[in-house]
Amino acid sequence: MRSVSDHQAVVAALFGDPVSETVPVAAALGAVTTTEILASSALPGFDNSAMDGYAVRAGEISSATEQSPVTLPVAEDIPAGRTDRLALTPGTAHRIMTGAPMPADADAVVPVEMTDGGVDQVTIRSSIPAGKHIRRAGSDIEAGRPAIAAGTRIGAPQVGLLAALGITEVAVLRRLRVVVLSTGSELVTPGQPLHHGQIYESNGPMLTAAATEAGAEATHLHYVTDDVDAFRTRLDEISGWADVIITSGGVSAGAFEVVKDALTDSDDIEFVKVAMQPGMPQGCGHYPGPDGRRVPIITLPGNPVSSLVSFEMFIRPALRAAMGLPEDRPIRMARLSADVVSPAGKRQFMRGVLRSDDTGAVVDPIGPPASHHLRYLAQANALIDIPEDVDAVSEGTSVQVIEL
Ligand code: AMP
Ligand code: MG
Repeated sequence: MRSVSDHQAVVAALFGDPVSETVPVAAALGAVTTTEILASSALPGFDNSAMDGYAVRAGEISSATEQSPVTLPVAEDIPAGRTDRLALTPGTAHRIMTGAPMPADADAVVPVEMTDGGVDQVTIRSSIPAGKHIRRAGSDIEAGRPAIAAGTRIGAPQVGLLAALGITEVAVLRRLRVVVLSTGSELVTPGQPLHHGQIYESNGPMLTAAATEAGAEATHLHYVTDDVDAFRTRLDEISGWADVIITSGGVSAGAFEVVKDALTDSDDIEFVKVAMQPGMPQGCGHYPGPDGRRVPIITLPGNPVSSLVSFEMFIRPALRAAMGLPEDRPIRMARLSADVVSPAGKRQFMRGVLRSDDTGAVVDPIGPPASHHLRYLAQANALIDIPEDVDAVSEGTSVQVIEL
């Protein structure tokens, strides 16, 4: 049997280096920038008011106090969005709103709270230093300065900054198009009626969600029945456009293992046993598409827990690396809250709930080892990693856990 780490290396080697592409900003969410992005314009683009209030010349209200306020006529109203260029006539004030352009020759904004809020004339009860409550052009970023560094993952704040700069496209490492295809004649799409012996197809939605969470552009295709020709036809179509194909089911030791039967003669795809529980039967390689494209394919076992744990161990790290994304599953040590047993010769990934008490990190093993227990998988927030050569671990022992 192949070790988990050896199979991780084999899967990782199926992927090429990350590729840069220019995409609309909205499509870049979650992707990593490949170039430094410079500010195409200053932010703010013009001096504007930081407050709702009155634009004044600070020198004209320097004597204003509560006891002896200063009253000025209000010559203009400047709401945000006013586009003409105004200048402040000496001896007047302009009523101005937050974000509205400062009139030329005004050098401060008196907040409305320090006035009577007048419309035709305004009584100001306090002096204010010159420059107060003005957001200067370029005070956030000057035109031509670096706005976003190369190697930044585009999240909501970066989308905001790019939009504020008026930038519509960005060069990022390409997000891979992952196609998830489940196999099994027993499978039925959720929402349809079930006959005896049928089950709802859950691996497809689950693995698609996992690939999306990992940062890929994932597509879930309707499952195929355990029919070799139908499966091959489907793969031929998919290999024309997908960057990665993930299948589930049909790779173990049964009589109707459609994935294995369809691909076992290919020189480019291997089926192996990996020394792990869950997830022992694995396959991977390149699918030779009819148009000559060789698409990385990873064939996961069908049991739901096996398929997701296999995705976590083999596909997620490789997929993220191929998109320039960092490893993001923290590995830490925690004390086991119960005795556990583990199959000798296999690395076991038990479902666990990681928590902390006053002595530090504790992990509760949950659910039986059998790999159909989706309920416990859905409760877990960690995988407890029991090494191959260990067959029992007692309560209180410190073990390695992978945070999900
Ligand atoms: P297989 O690897 O095809 O032999 O399937 C192993 C077990 O996983 C069987 O109990 C299948 O019914 C189940 N299984 C396979 N594919 C799926 C799927 N897409 N969704 C839910 N269960 C599945
Ligand atoms: Mg099957």
